[in-house]
Amino acid sequence: MSHPGRLEGKVAIVTGGGAGFGVGIVEKFVFEGAKVVVLDINEEDAKKVSSAQPPNLSVGLKGDVSCEADWKAALDAAVETFGRLDIVVNNAGVVYKACPSIETSEEDYDRVMRVNLKSIYWSSKVIIPYFLAQNVGGLFINISSMASPRPRPSLVWYGASKGGVTNATKGLAIEWAKHNIRFNVIHPVAGETNMVPLFLGGPDSPEARIGMMSTIPLGRFALPADIGNAAAFLASDEASMITGAALDVDGGRGI
Ligand code: ADP
Repeated sequence: MSHPGRLEGKVAIVTGGGAGFGVGIVEKFVFEGAKVVVLDINEEDAKKVSSAQPPNLSVGLKGDVSCEADWKAALDAAVETFGRLDIVVNNAGVVYKACPSIETSEEDYDRVMRVNLKSIYWSSKVIIPYFLAQNVGGLFINISSMASPRPRPSLVWYGASKGGVTNATKGLAIEWAKHNIRFNVIHPVAGETNMVPLFLGGPDSPEARIGMMSTIPLGRFALPADIGNAAAFLASDEASMITGAALDVDGGRGI
């Protein structure tokens, strides 16, 4: 007997879907039956990831998540290509090279706030009215970081942006629950992604990576599939009673 995927019939926008954790989210969502708009500032990566999926299940789109017009274009793309939108995964994010808080440049500060936090603002402002008009609920999954519940001394402003993501997600969850729009946040530990060299601060070496992994009780970085699995659960009907939750996908780092 064939078993339908947990996201059969759903349409999602996955931001930052062109690299890192985003790829794991796109792959898992498609595997579970969703159709996906892969939104990334890197158009080539967005299109590469979407064309690696089975035909007609995904589309790659260039967009900046801190920009209102690009959110409107992503919503239009979902509705025009797949007929609807059910799920937004705010995964796109940036970090700067780890350094003491008073040495972080204003440019880096502004960039982490603009990409990591303003993206939550614009996605909410653009997509919530669409969900309300459809009157069938909706779902947001925001990818924060373990730097939110456990701030790191060398990434203070990054942690502040991710703390904002966690707090905004909880506030939004309370605000929109009566319309069955659910908001949940995932706190990944550092992943095997482009970000590792930046988190390390110092030179990237096998020893430095092993040192960082040793702070994670399960002894490894998060894989894109780990985040994809957590996001697919939160996006599924199995999580229909869960809103405002923060799920640590951290190998025990936060204990
Ligand atoms: P992570 O560990 O979060 O997966 P990566 O750097 O590997 O980190 O992936 C982050 C993704 O987010 C990249 O594909 C990147 O191009 C994308 N991204 C970064 N900034 C923006 C932005 N402003 N708008 C859309 N996508 C972005």
